[in-house]
Amino acid sequence: MPEEKLKAALSIVQVAVPTPLRRKFDYLLPDDIDSEQVLPGMRVLVPFGRTKQIAVVLAMAAKTDIELKKLRPIVKVLDKKPILPTDIIQLLNWVATYYHHPIGEVFQAALPVHFRKKESASTQEQRLWFLTEEAKKADWDCLKRAVRQRSILEQLKKYPEGLTKEQIASEQEGQWQSALKTLQKKNWLQEQVQAHIPYQYCLPDSASDTAIIKNPGLSLNEEQQSAVANLLSRDDYFSASLIDGITGSGKTEVYLSVIEQQLNNARQVLVLVPEIGLTPQLIYRFEHRFSVIIATLHSGLNNTQRMKIWQQAASGEIRILIGTRSAVFTPMPDLGVIIIDEEHDLSFKQQDGIRYSAKDIALVRANYADIPIMLGSATPSMESLYLCQQEKMTHLKLRQRAGKARPPEVHLIDIRGQYLQHGMSRTLIDLIKQHLAKENQVLLFQNRRGYSPVLLCNKCGWISHCHRCDAKLTYHRQRNHLRCHHCQIEQPLPAQCPECGHGDLSQLGVGTERVEKVVREIFPEIEVIRIDRDTTQRKGAMQNLLEQARDGKQQILIGTQMLAKGHHFPNVTLVAILDIDQGLYSVDFRAPERLAQLIVQVSGRAGREEKKGQVVLQTAHPEDEMLNTLLSQGYAGFAANALAERKAILLPPYAYQALIRAEANHINNYQAFLEYCFQTMSAIKQNLSSKSDVQFLGPVPAPMEKKAGKFRGQLLVQSSQRKELHRILQDLIWNVELTKAAQRVRWSIDIDPQELY
Ligand code: ADP
Ligand code: ZN
Ligand code: ZN
Repeated sequence: MPEEKLKAALSIVQVAVPTPLRRKFDYLLPDDIDSEQVLPGMRVLVPFGRTKQIAVVLAMAAKTDIELKKLRPIVKVLDKKPILPTDIIQLLNWVATYYHHPIGEVFQAALPVHFRKKESASTQEQRLWFLTEEAKKADWDCLKRAVRQRSILEQLKKYPEGLTKEQIASEQEGQWQSALKTLQKKNWLQEQVQAHIPYQYCLPDSASDTAIIKNPGLSLNEEQQSAVANLLSRDDYFSASLIDGITGSGKTEVYLSVIEQQLNNARQVLVLVPEIGLTPQLIYRFEHRFSVIIATLHSGLNNTQRMKIWQQAASGEIRILIGTRSAVFTPMPDLGVIIIDEEHDLSFKQQDGIRYSAKDIALVRANYADIPIMLGSATPSMESLYLCQQEKMTHLKLRQRAGKARPPEVHLIDIRGQYLQHGMSRTLIDLIKQHLAKENQVLLFQNRRGYSPVLLCNKCGWISHCHRCDAKLTYHRQRNHLRCHHCQIEQPLPAQCPECGHGDLSQLGVGTERVEKVVREIFPEIEVIRIDRDTTQRKGAMQNLLEQARDGKQQILIGTQMLAKGHHFPNVTLVAILDIDQGLYSVDFRAPERLAQLIVQVSGRAGREEKKGQVVLQTAHPEDEMLNTLLSQGYAGFAANALAERKAILLPPYAYQALIRAEANHINNYQAFLEYCFQTMSAIKQNLSSKSDVQFLGPVPAPMEKKAGKFRGQLLVQSSQRKELHRILQDLIWNVELTKAAQRVRWSIDIDPQELY
C-alpha cells in the first residue's frame, strides 16, 4: 500500500494480544477488510509467532512506529459489533499501565472465558448435565443408601441450567463417576451439548416503565437522612464518599435509598462485596426492596452463567449487579453509582496474577464515568480515611445503631498466670456459663483451623515441619493427619517421633477443632457448631450451619475469620476472641489495622437485636497501647493514632509502595534476579532528579522463604511520589523483562501491596 494512502486511512490495527509481553501490537488491515468493519472492542484473529491468537482491537490508527514491511495483516474479524464498550477499554488500559501488567493478559482476564477460547462466539459449545423429567418426578427416598447418586441429584437440582462434569466433580467425592453413569442409565440424568448464545454488545432501549419498588424502605433516622441527602446532592457527577458507620448503624439502608434514586433515574447500579457466600442477607434485602432485575456475579458460577450475566448487564437488562472483585470490569452502559460494601476487606485485592485492587479500579471507573461511588465500612481502611483527610472523599459518619440494638461492651481478659484449658481461661468459661444460663448463644472466635498448629517431641524437641515450606504442619484430629496449610500436603500422624522414636508427642497450640473438643467436654449438654473451612467445604454446608445457628438458642458457635463478616446472629450475646496476641507483634505494619478491624467486626456480631452484647478478648498483653486506644476511643481513635504513626515514619498511605517478588527452584536464581533489579533501579535513580526519594528495601528472603518447594524473595520499592515510583518501575521493566535473570524466575510486581509476603 502506498504511503500516502496509509496516512489518510486508518489501516493500522492496534491490538491487545494475550501474551506476557508488556506492549500493544500493531497489525495491518488487509485490503479486503473495510476499516469501518473494525472497531475498538472487537476481537480479531492475528498471526502471532507461529500461531494465531485472538486479540482485542484497542484502536485504529493511521500510522505506526514500526517499519511497515514488518507488520503482518490481521487474519479476520471475529465480531460484528464490539464486545467491549469504550469505557471498559479505557479502564483496562489504565489497569495495564497502573499495575505494569501485560495489556493482553489484562484484557483476557476481564473477558468471560467464552470470548477467550474459541474463534467465533457462535461456535462455542459445552456439555452440560441435567435432571430428566423422570428424575424430577421420582421419589428419591429409594436412593437412601446410594449416597453418591443422591448427592449428585441434589447438586443438579440446585442448577436447573445444567452443570459441566468439572462442576459436578468439584462438589462430589469418591466414586461419583460411576454414580453418574448409573443415573444416566436409569434415565434420571441426561447430557446435552449446548451452544452458548452468541453475544453482541448493544445499547439498551430507553428505560422501561416497569415498577422499581417492591417494598418501601424504613424511615431513616437523622444521621441516615443527612448521609442520604449529602449523597443525593451529588448524584450525577463523580464524587467519592466513605460511609463510616458501626455495624448495625444502617449503612445498607443508606445504600438502598441512594440506589432507589438511581433506579428512578434509569441508571444501573454496581455493588461490590467481599464474598457472595457471606452476604445472603444483603442480597435478600435488595430483592425485598426492588422489583428490578438483580444478579450476582461470583466465582461459584460456571462460564455459561457468567457469560449470561455479563451479557445482561451489558445490554442494560440487569439493573443491579452485585459481585465480587472481578465484577468491576462488567460493562454497564447506564451505570449510575458504584457501591463497595466492607471496603476495608482484603478480598478486594487480587493476590495473584494481576494484583489489582478492585476498589481502586472502581474509583477510577467512577471517575471516568463521572458518577458517584460510595465505600462503606464499620472499620474503614487507612487509605480511605486518608482520602477523607485530604478531602478527596466525603466522610459520612453513622455513629448510632439504627433500630433497637445497642453497642456491646468490650473488655480484656488478662491470661497471664491463669491456667488455660486448651486455650480457654477460667474467667471465660464462667462467662460462657452465665450467658448460656440466660438461654443465649456464645460465639468463640479462633482464627486457626485444625486441632493444633504444632506437634512437638517431648524428648528431642522435633517439630512437625513441612519439608516443602518454611512452615509447621497442623494436626487435624478428625482426619487424624498432619497437613500443611500453605502447600496442602498431608501426612499420616506419626505414632512416635520420627527423629528419636520417642512415643510422647505433644500437641501445641489451639485450633478450632480443639476448641470444639474442649467445649463439648465442658458443656456436654449444649449444641456446638463449628464453622471453618473444614466444616464448610461442601456446597450448602455453610448455609445449613448458619441457619442452624440463627434458629438456635443456648448454642456455642466456634469459627474462624469466616464468622467475622456480615452475619447476623440475633441470639449471640457473648463474643470471645481466644487469642489476639498473634496480631499484636507482627512484622507487617498493617497488622494492627487488621487486628483492630477484626476485633470491631467480630464485636459487631454480638447483641444485634434487643439483647445487649458483651465482647471479651483474651490476651497476655493487657497493657498494649493499641488495644487500649481501641477499647477506650473506638476504631476512630485507633485509626487517628495509626495514621499519625504512619505519617511520622512515612508508610502508606503517606508513601507509595511496590513489591517485586521472585520465585525460583534455587535460592541463587531469585537472589540474582532481585539483585539485578536493585542495581538497575539504583542506576536509574542516579539519573532521576536529585530530589527523588525512591527507596529500596531488600532484596530479602520472603517471610516464608520456602513455599511448596520454591524459594522466594522480595524487593520493596517506596516513594512519597507516586509518579516517581511508577517511572522507575517502568524503566526497570524495560530493562529487565527479556533478560536471562528474569527468565530463570517467576516474578511479579505488586503495586500498592496489601500483604508484604
Ligand atoms: P449496617 O449495614 O450498617 O450493618 P443495616 O442497614 O443492616 O446496618 O441495619 C442494621 C439493622 O437496623 C437492620 O436490621 C435494619 O433493618 C435496621 N435499621 C436500619 N435502619 C433503620 C431505621 N432507619 N429504622 C429502623 N431500623 C433500621
Ligand atoms: Zn524425638
Ligand atoms: Zn507445605
